[in-house]
Amino acid sequence: MARDDPFSEKLRVPEALTFDDVLLRPQESRVEPDDADMTTRVSRNVTLNIPVLSAAMDTVTEAELAIEMARQGGLGVLHRNMDVEEMAEQIEAVKRADELIIRDVVTADPDQTVREVDAMMDRAGVSGAPVVDDDDTVLGIISGTDIRPYLQVGEHDEVREAMTDEVVTAAEDVTAREALELMYEHKIERVPIVDDDDRLTGLITMAGVLARREYDNAARDDDGALVAGAAVGPFETDRARAADDAGADVLFIDCAHAHNLDVIDSARDIKSEVDADVVVGNVGTSEAAEAIVDFADGIKVGIGPGSICTTRVVSGSGMPQITAVAEVADVAVAHDVPVIADGGIRYSGDAIKAIAAGADAVMLGSYFAGTDEAPGRVITMNGKRYKQYRGMGSVGAMNDGGGERYLKDEPDEDEFVPEGVEAAKPYKGSLASELHQLVGGMQSGMGYVGAETIPAFKERSEFVRVSSAGQTESHAHDVVITDEAPNYSPEN
Ligand code: 5GP
Repeated sequence: MARDDPFSEKLRVPEALTFDDVLLRPQESRVEPDDADMTTRVSRNVTLNIPVLSAAMDTVTEAELAIEMARQGGLGVLHRNMDVEEMAEQIEAVKRADELIIRDVVTADPDQTVREVDAMMDRAGVSGAPVVDDDDTVLGIISGTDIRPYLQVGEHDEVREAMTDEVVTAAEDVTAREALELMYEHKIERVPIVDDDDRLTGLITMAGVLARREYDNAARDDDGALVAGAAVGPFETDRARAADDAGADVLFIDCAHAHNLDVIDSARDIKSEVDADVVVGNVGTSEAAEAIVDFADGIKVGIGPGSICTTRVVSGSGMPQITAVAEVADVAVAHDVPVIADGGIRYSGDAIKAIAAGADAVMLGSYFAGTDEAPGRVITMNGKRYKQYRGMGSVGAMNDGGGERYLKDEPDEDEFVPEGVEAAKPYKGSLASELHQLVGGMQSGMGYVGAETIPAFKERSEFVRVSSAGQTESHAHDVVITDEAPNYSPEN
């Protein structure tokens, strides 16, 4: 059958731009970068204090990194190259990490000996325990201070002898401030939480309250627990249910091409089954955004920009990221659905350009892969320290059971058609210091544009197009770098 249009028409192609093609036009400003407010929405119902997410990759986000991301105000998205039970445990670990009321309380029995309780507290790593009877009624509390006088001469005495029986307790609705006041007034370090019948339901400790105060910018849910994100495959309804039950705040439908109509049908079903917000991705065009915007709580953008990604060269398909974000944002903004720019961000300047193009938040993998909190150990090559970083569509990740988002059926290893590579990133130290550089650079960008909030910045920012000579001028040039800056490496 003959085509209606000549093939040569296909060569009248639109232009698509990415990070290095544009710069933010500097504007009149009274905004000091430190004053720029980085609060944003990552999905319809979840707000973050910094607009940053860590990628759902097995060399980036497990519970340890997710906890630190949320403490710093962002969101960690747990990868799905682990079984469903393991994922549920990791979500629970994030939700429990800085909880005000500890639920998993180590308790003592009034009939135990002082020696037994001392050994038990040692094993559990706690310095005190409520003493409860068989139906959890609080009878007293025992701590190291109570135990010490008994250790030499009375270690076979019963706990009921040694415990403090005038216990200061509080109800479930106690606030952190009220708990601190109680501890201060009574010179105590822990307050058991009880129900109306004096039965133990939890415990608040001084150490716990103080640790929470250290993270005053943390992203928390309505109950004060850290926020948690989790990746689920487009057809993994069981994983989605389990992650939702475990308390995930946002589920990310983790798919390389979410404009696949079967993926959309399944994502819509998953959305109808869970309480968590559901972000759908990845997409890179306005048509794809139109197809999901009616049910998605957020849209994730990125077809092939990732540092370890080879999709564009393997498949010949993709969309430069600044244009992709802008196309999707045009659709999403009309429906008040947040947009996340995922992949390709090497510098803080790229991150803030993605926001200018219409994103509400950015997702990064390579930027965080070299941190202490990322999974995996530090390796040394030629005297320099690195951590492993690999694409989820790389042969290694697929061999370990992952990479389903890039797989056709379930081929043998020599039949894999990978869309990612295995690599390493220089070791970087703590996630907190990496985030400090990333967010500080983004705030500088807001200062140059004169916008104090993310919505104002999205509205006010303008791009200029950069020539290749302009790109060269942007980087350090005509010098030999003698000391590495914490936020710049020409190799990035
Ligand atoms: P980066 O921040 O390293 O530039 O990009 C991270 C993003 O790359 C991830 O969030 C994910 O969307 C994408 N990604 C991860 N692994 C692969 C892969 O193997 N192939 C492709 N095409 N993209 C990947």
